[in-house]
Amino acid sequence: MSEAIPVTTHAFRAEVAAVLRLVTNSLYTNRDIFLRELVSNASDALDKARFAALLDPELQDKDAAPQIRIEIDAAAGTLVIEDNGIGMSAAEVEQNLGTIAHSGTLEFLQRATERGSGGKPELDLIGQFGVGFYSAFMVADHIDVDTRSATLGHAAVRWSSKGDGSFTLGPSDRAHRGTRITLQLRDDAKDYLDRWRLQGIIKRYSDYVLHPIVIVSDEGGGTRTGEDQQVNSAKAFWTRPAKDLSEADYQEFYTHTMGGFVLPGDKPLARLHVGMDAPIQFKSVLFVPGHRPMDLFGEDSKHLRLYARRVLVMESCDKLLPAYLRFFRGVVDSEDLPLNVSREMLQEHGALAAIRRQLTRKALALLADTAKDDAATYAKLWREFGVFVKEGLHTDNAHREQLTELLRFDSTRAFSESADAVGGLVSLQQYIDAMPSDQVAIYYISGESAAALARSPHLEACRAKGFEVLLMTDAVDEWVVQDLERYKDKPLVNVTKGDFDSAATSEPADEATFAPLFARARAVLGERVKDVRASRRLRESAACLVDDDAALGRNMERILRMAGRDITSRPRILELNPEHAFVRATATRLSEHADDAQASLWIELLFDQASIAEGTVPDPAGMVQRLQQVLDRVAGLAAGEHT
Ligand code: ADP
Repeated sequence: MSEAIPVTTHAFRAEVAAVLRLVTNSLYTNRDIFLRELVSNASDALDKARFAALLDPELQDKDAAPQIRIEIDAAAGTLVIEDNGIGMSAAEVEQNLGTIAHSGTLEFLQRATERGSGGKPELDLIGQFGVGFYSAFMVADHIDVDTRSATLGHAAVRWSSKGDGSFTLGPSDRAHRGTRITLQLRDDAKDYLDRWRLQGIIKRYSDYVLHPIVIVSDEGGGTRTGEDQQVNSAKAFWTRPAKDLSEADYQEFYTHTMGGFVLPGDKPLARLHVGMDAPIQFKSVLFVPGHRPMDLFGEDSKHLRLYARRVLVMESCDKLLPAYLRFFRGVVDSEDLPLNVSREMLQEHGALAAIRRQLTRKALALLADTAKDDAATYAKLWREFGVFVKEGLHTDNAHREQLTELLRFDSTRAFSESADAVGGLVSLQQYIDAMPSDQVAIYYISGESAAALARSPHLEACRAKGFEVLLMTDAVDEWVVQDLERYKDKPLVNVTKGDFDSAATSEPADEATFAPLFARARAVLGERVKDVRASRRLRESAACLVDDDAALGRNMERILRMAGRDITSRPRILELNPEHAFVRATATRLSEHADDAQASLWIELLFDQASIAEGTVPDPAGMVQRLQQVLDRVAGLAAGEHT
């Protein structure tokens, strides 16, 4: 038997005393984390014992089943956290619980404390720092640590402190290896004697600690809780091989990941379960949720949970995926991350950048695979999260090509072939694969509603030629088009802009017949149009309005206005269809009677029509009058024919 230890009193090293003062005197907003810290230490101790047992045949209690035991003694007001792990020798206790291992801890804590606004320290910051064992003084005014090293030949030792600058070391009657920490709870921390409270904290922070955590309570009355009731699931879901996991298992973990709140029938649209060993070790389970979470555009957007060796170190880590992939939910667990460092230090840790590179690659591959293997699911995913992919196209140049392949659009073809709102999407590759040989560009039109766009007169020439037109209804599509410019050598061409001088056009109009009409129209419409010309994009309709190549475009004007910009609409170009019988008749009439008065009314009505086709009527009352004049004439009520 090893020799008994005399009781000795020790002063904490200066930095410990200072840390303790900060920890105990700062009013924590989240004191719960003390339990996470103690459980995490216990779990580490069990890991170390497991490892040591492999090397040391003499290790004490070699076959002990690892366990973390939490005992509530309501009568005594104590909470015990006990493990049968590696334990500590007297020298180790003095070293570990008398000093602070991480240099810079104190400085960091002091800075964090000072930084708080209005005199109040940034308490959450301290909470996230993880001051390890010392955080127990947030809830306890006296702590006893009884510990016995698993290595034979060391006596059990008791460390005691009130967190007031000194601790004592003395003998302990602990018979087995491991550590028992007894917290005499402060008066204002007695709520930690409630087993449901503790259970909730463990579920939240330590559910995936691999060793079983049991709560033993002596509380009389009510429900007498059985011994050895394990409160954590004790299995890191992500460490289990994917082949051993069922759909139901993933669904359960998905529910857990979404905070327990998913609607009945809410399933992830895609999921990823990866494990990597090089260049960095990590495991991850990621989900694309079934629906767009509410918070994706807010400041408090949730990100992935980060575990270091199965201990939760960050509830929401935004460094694991680029911002545009923030719709992914799930966990990352790495062996290569330090446990007890500040959030700031962790955020800057090189391992995170390495994980992010790999994870981004995997997440994009997941999206691509879903698109390839399950178009219907991808269509749903696109409707929910496509806007983020487009954001990525703008921000993540390194993955530009992959992101481009992920783009989907409504199109005239898809729209006519599919009535359901989810399907009917086309990729750029599908678009060019379906192009007739004489089509040289990718045509698109942008506006508010795909249904309205699909009926736009601007599409007529394309339709006649059998050219598909992409219908862009998302405000960011305007930027997508600008970012892309072309796809596989094919330029993206807005069918409402420019002269539409492409293979899609018909023969130029016969100038002599139409010159008087255009001249009259310019005179009648004045400032309201930039020009009047023959259209080469219309087939059935008589008139449409188009933009200059250089102009913003109607849709862009609308979007900028929505964004609060003061945009005045610039006059547009009125295009008249020279093939159209009515336009031709008006032209002929004007070439024969240069001063025909009726023609002016008709021109006004053509302009009205072109506006209505786009969903705007600049002058509704005037238009009603004009229509009535025409109707009166049709009914034979109007006085006099043309002069
Ligand atoms: P950290 O865990 O970051 O090292 P702590 O202050 O929480 O900082 O703990 C200091 C050290 O005390 C640990 O590194 C470990 O060596 C030792 N220790 C703490 N708790 C236990 C325990 N339950 N069993 C064995 N050793 C422990």
